[in-house]
Amino acid sequence: MFESTTPFTHPSAPYKAYSQHSYRQIPQVSHLSQEDLDAIDIVSTVLPFKVNSYVVNELIDWSNIPDDPIYTLTFPRREMLEPEHYARMERLVRGGASAAEIKAAAMEIRQDLNPHPAGQRLNIPEHDGTPLPGIQHKYRETVLFFPTQGQTCHAYCTFCFRWPQFVGMNDVKFAMKETDLLVGYLRDNRHVTDVLFTGGDPMIMKTSILASYIDPLLSDDLSNVQTIRIGTKALGYWPYRFTTDSDAPELLELFRRVVASGRNLSIMAHFNHPVELQTPAVREAVRGLRSVGVQIRTQSPLLKNINNHPEIWAEMWRQQVNMNMIPYYMFVERDTGSKSFFEVPLVEAWNIFRDAYQHVSGVCRTVRGPSMSATPGKVQILGVSEIAGEKVFTLRFIQGRNPDWVARPFFAKFDPKAMWLDQLQPAFGETEFFFEPELADILQQSTDPQP
Ligand SMILES: *Cc1c(COP(=O)(O)O)cnc(C)c1O
Ligand code: SF4
Repeated sequence: MFESTTPFTHPSAPYKAYSQHSYRQIPQVSHLSQEDLDAIDIVSTVLPFKVNSYVVNELIDWSNIPDDPIYTLTFPRREMLEPEHYARMERLVRGGASAAEIKAAAMEIRQDLNPHPAGQRLNIPEHDGTPLPGIQHKYRETVLFFPTQGQTCHAYCTFCFRWPQFVGMNDVKFAMKETDLLVGYLRDNRHVTDVLFTGGDPMIMKTSILASYIDPLLSDDLSNVQTIRIGTKALGYWPYRFTTDSDAPELLELFRRVVASGRNLSIMAHFNHPVELQTPAVREAVRGLRSVGVQIRTQSPLLKNINNHPEIWAEMWRQQVNMNMIPYYMFVERDTGSKSFFEVPLVEAWNIFRDAYQHVSGVCRTVRGPSMSATPGKVQILGVSEIAGEKVFTLRFIQGRNPDWVARPFFAKFDPKAMWLDQLQPAFGETEFFFEPELADILQQSTDPQP
């Protein structure tokens, strides 16, 4: 049914990654100001920094530094650390402190930055009495799988705080062992219909390794698994993964096999700005994926200093639909990492969403948001209303730890400064939100020591 893919006409330059130790080799960096260079050196002692040749040459507009959105997305900037944290690291770096001293101070600062937001550690399931640390199971039908070898990315986003898990390994045997555990879990949990590969970025893996994770899920006795999703930023950071990388043809064949097994294969593509949609390479990558029957759904957090304008979102959704992708989520930036540089009040997030949503046609309105991935679930801000004389936020669960919470409107006192769910109070004089007693039970159970 799908035509074979057209030959790719935009071969990649070789993948070259740069870190805090090597970024001065980037030719464009020689034009940065001393302030910008100092900021990179100091902030990158705390936050992860990795950028690559495609991002540098194809996405960043070097005449617009430091405000360029993709520069801000990948390069450390001074304001990304709190002033006292910045001053502390600056004193150490300038004063010639040892690498060990710098590292110890960085670890302390990171502990202040909420490295495990939204109770992520509470979702680790067990199978036959063994904890499964590479699996998270928070919502009934969907299991998140973190393949060990997908825990890094082609470049790092400055707003991201997944660095606690950024490690590298490349070993097929390990993948098979992890897959055995996952398959066992899926066999015994027949209500799970979706497996979502996440990371880091699973598309960092070679096709042979990714296949050793995915092929076993296509077996007939796992008929409950109907959708395989892959969360990735590779379309934004290294689209050649799907076109001219040496194992790209095998990758598209793997995806074709998933589709031929009667399952849905969705790439959950992470795009933060329309610039990422405009290169010939990303356009070819999207065409190639679509030609083997892959669906592409898109998502992004709303980020101050990168995409906090409705026109940017409207433009992004329109272009995505034109490229045959499906807009899926607008997220509220998590309460972690360099949040004060990126965070947007909930009321402003809603205004940006609403304004953008009003300016696109129905085919773009598959997008849902703004949504907070919080401890009880994904909570969408439906809007600001006035009910019985009280100004309130109307909210609802898009996903909940208890599926019964989903799609019921509930209300919080309006608060123009609130940035996250835990800063909201119930409206109408109530003392707690409807889900809180049950949530307390769920959290209690998942932290109880197992017998
Ligand atoms: C978003 C998310 C999912 C997937 O939810 P969908 O509504 O099916 O897209 C699964 N697990 C976790 C922890 C999530 O945050
Ligand atoms: S690609 Fe995803 S996991 Fe990787 S740094 Fe960016 S947000 Fe984090």
